[in-house]
Amino acid sequence: MARTRIKDILSGGTTGARYKVCGWVRTRRDSKGGFSFIELNDGSCMENLQLIADAQTADYEGTVLRLQPGCSLEVEGLLQASPGKGQRVELKVEALRVFGWADPEHYPLQKKRHSFEFLRTIAHLRPRTNTFGAVARVRNAVSHAIHTFFQERGFLYVHTPIITGSDCEGAGDLFHITTFDLGAVPIEEGRVDFSEDFFGQPANLTVSGQLEAEIYALALGDVYTFGPTFRAENSNTSRHLAEFWMVEPEMAFCELEGDMDLAVEFLQYLFRHVLDHCRGDLEFFNRFIDQSVIGTLETLATQDFERLSYTEAIEILSKSGEEFEFPVAWGTDLQSEHERYLCEKTFKKPVILTDYPKTIKPFYMKLNPDGKTVRAMDVLVPKIGEIIGGSQREDDYDTLLQRIEESGLHVDDYWWYLDLRRFGSTPHAGFGLGLERLVQFITGMGNIRDVIPFPRTPGNLNF
Ligand code: ATP
Ligand code: MN
Repeated sequence: MARTRIKDILSGGTTGARYKVCGWVRTRRDSKGGFSFIELNDGSCMENLQLIADAQTADYEGTVLRLQPGCSLEVEGLLQASPGKGQRVELKVEALRVFGWADPEHYPLQKKRHSFEFLRTIAHLRPRTNTFGAVARVRNAVSHAIHTFFQERGFLYVHTPIITGSDCEGAGDLFHITTFDLGAVPIEEGRVDFSEDFFGQPANLTVSGQLEAEIYALALGDVYTFGPTFRAENSNTSRHLAEFWMVEPEMAFCELEGDMDLAVEFLQYLFRHVLDHCRGDLEFFNRFIDQSVIGTLETLATQDFERLSYTEAIEILSKSGEEFEFPVAWGTDLQSEHERYLCEKTFKKPVILTDYPKTIKPFYMKLNPDGKTVRAMDVLVPKIGEIIGGSQREDDYDTLLQRIEESGLHVDDYWWYLDLRRFGSTPHAGFGLGLERLVQFITGMGNIRDVIPFPRTPGNLNF
């Protein structure tokens, strides 16, 4: 008999029919009448399937009464309406086979609530908990929907490199990669001689696929990348990882307004998608993690975001009378406390800030006629702050050249990037969305380490 997933049984199983299910025991409860209730979970959904096994089940004493949380089972039985409350159906066990026992003396996930900090130390077992199972399913649904969104709109999925030769934008601190024996690095006149290294030059992990995505946008129109990104951020915040996943659309023949429109449409599509496809998991988050998540997603799926300039935001923050940890002044970067203030206190909705000072943004953003600000846009959301960073790109050759020079970068490294402005340059724009920040926002999970299966942060590379 083929195995059926518990999700399908709970949503559409026929009572009176026989099913085979496999999964892990969450709990066992014995009744005085000589039978036991077993809660089985197979990861397909939040809910467990209730099994009923009685003395007629082969080896009730030797097997059923020994079942403990964490044991893995295969069960065949008859689906019947459940007289108890809490579930519509239950499976009357006819045959039961244990694949693997789990010694209750040592299995860490006994039925009680564990802190997320503790669960990070057992990242090999935490996906078996309600919270981490739900996070994994939401993350999966969002990833799928990201592709669907772009594919439905004719965007081409481009694979940009993970190993790159230049730091390409100074977006973050780099992880260098090498095949050198680090105890015997060749030194030539006091400097590392990279000509002997694998690539014959310095190499590092990518901090963004944007510059390469621009190459493809300027040939194919609308493209996106979706892949891992690496930043050696030595900041232990609840919103930064050293390895995270970024989605980066890039559109030719598009300016900042079109870029903002796409960002809003994209986020609204993803919010709607999880509301429609992850209901059980969202209800769990809404109940146990953050009681505002479902309401917020429903509002945001249709409500437009507030749009204003960085300069206007600075004015609002300066006049707010609020005591910020970091002072507010035109020309300094906004901290997440400022971003959150705008979303949570001033506008009570997501905010898109545009036209930041050029000095706090990368060289490739299009310079405004004022010569001081660039066509940047950051999308800020309550509780998290920045979730998307994007811009219209500088498409004028001379201005770009000047910006590279004033940023202290090596012009030679960007010959190909400059070439795109020499041959058939067009207005173009794009943005980067951090997948983990989005999953954090959707689920209400407070720490970014808990929305990626295996978080990489300073001093932590377990699993
Ligand atoms: P922040 O100011 O929050 O560090 P950033 O300005 O460095 O962000 P961008 O370079 O614009 O961010 O990257 C685009 C998006 O990638 C961000 O909006 C965010 O969602 C995500 N992101 C950036 N750095 C990280 C990180 N270290 N961990 C997880 N997500 C990140
Ligand atoms: Mn950063």
